[in-house]
Amino acid sequence: MSKESAADRLVLPSDQNASGRTLGDEEIAALTEVIRSGVMVSTKGPFVPEFEKRFATMLGAKYAYACSSGSAAVHVAIAAIDPKPGDEIITTAITDMGALTPICYQGAIPVFCDVDPDTCNVTAKTIEKCLSDRTKAIIVTHLFGNPCEMKSIMALANERGIPVIEDCAQAFLAEHGGKYVGRFGAINAFSLQQGKHITTGEGGIVVTDNAELARRAYLHINKAWGYGDEKPDHYFLALNYRMTELQGAVALAQLPKLKGVVEARVATAKALSEQLQGVPGIRTPKIEAGAVHTWWKYCLNVDEKVIEGGSPGLGAKLRERGIACAPRYVVKPAFRCQVFAEQRTFGDSRWPFTLARPEAVDYSESLFPGTFKGLRDILVLPWNEKYGREHVNYIAEAVRMAVSELKRG
Ligand SMILES: *Cc1c(COP(=O)(O)O)cnc(C)c1O
Repeated sequence: MSKESAADRLVLPSDQNASGRTLGDEEIAALTEVIRSGVMVSTKGPFVPEFEKRFATMLGAKYAYACSSGSAAVHVAIAAIDPKPGDEIITTAITDMGALTPICYQGAIPVFCDVDPDTCNVTAKTIEKCLSDRTKAIIVTHLFGNPCEMKSIMALANERGIPVIEDCAQAFLAEHGGKYVGRFGAINAFSLQQGKHITTGEGGIVVTDNAELARRAYLHINKAWGYGDEKPDHYFLALNYRMTELQGAVALAQLPKLKGVVEARVATAKALSEQLQGVPGIRTPKIEAGAVHTWWKYCLNVDEKVIEGGSPGLGAKLRERGIACAPRYVVKPAFRCQVFAEQRTFGDSRWPFTLARPEAVDYSESLFPGTFKGLRDILVLPWNEKYGREHVNYIAEAVRMAVSELKRG
């Protein structure tokens, strides 16, 4: 074996196990307290309500309600806005499926808008093309931790009187114009899944300043049972989406660590961007002036005219060196997945797509130039708060070496 390879191979901290997570004695102590108390349910215990209170305070929001997953959080946000069957909700095709299927569960039609190929984020321009008299809400996903252009998006949405739901699952403490993401939309969702900035394994939370949306969100998490009301009833269709006290305890211990997690990721991402300046065929992430990207992942753009094999080619080289990168993040636009392409919903009914305008479910490639170009060019590197200088150097060196091997001409 050559002197390089094995000896030079660095194992990167991973968010899939302890090496890249901030779980420790604080979480164990809080969990022990829950178990000793014998109270595991959030309607009776103190941990989930305290987590909600502190999360709201951290963001400066009036209300926060925890739930069982990020998908549940998106569902809760949609249900709070209360679409009727056939209403349209504009969203992106480059996101987690858990951000999309809740739209259909509420009887609404997901209308996919195109994205900026440089960031893979939706923009006011791409959203505007999809607006119709049926548009009930707009979901804005801050992909990889890079905030969308919220100023122009909110101007458009406010002008039309359409509520925005921010999906902040990948973007804890990201900022746009000096304001945290999750502070722009009417009601906004976060995920605490294993691979997010802070985690309870599974979990989610919604935030809002609107009392009416807050009430509906709370009820949607709790089978719509009016706890504490004079004459409580099950007011509308809703599931049990509650977070347990076990998760609440871990969440409460994780929360004070978030700022450090974000700062560490920002610092190391900046170092990598500096090291990759001028590497041919590689572009580092485009961040709007004044925005703070909080680096759930580090997303390179690869120019296949310069680099043999483009993003997949470069990705294969990096994986040989133990960098678990995903050329396409999501393998294909969501509308190419069976659930949407074949409208596989409830039995063979295809509902709610039977209610859709034909234009709303036209997934022709020509309508999504940014989505296809973005997905073709991105190379998504795993990012982590436990990365140090040695990991950044290792990744930068691996990229430079791969580029020198693959560079055309
Ligand atoms: C992770 C994620 C979700 C879903 O969260 P889960 O906790 O996995 O259900 C939704 N939207 C985005 C953008 C995500 O990254």
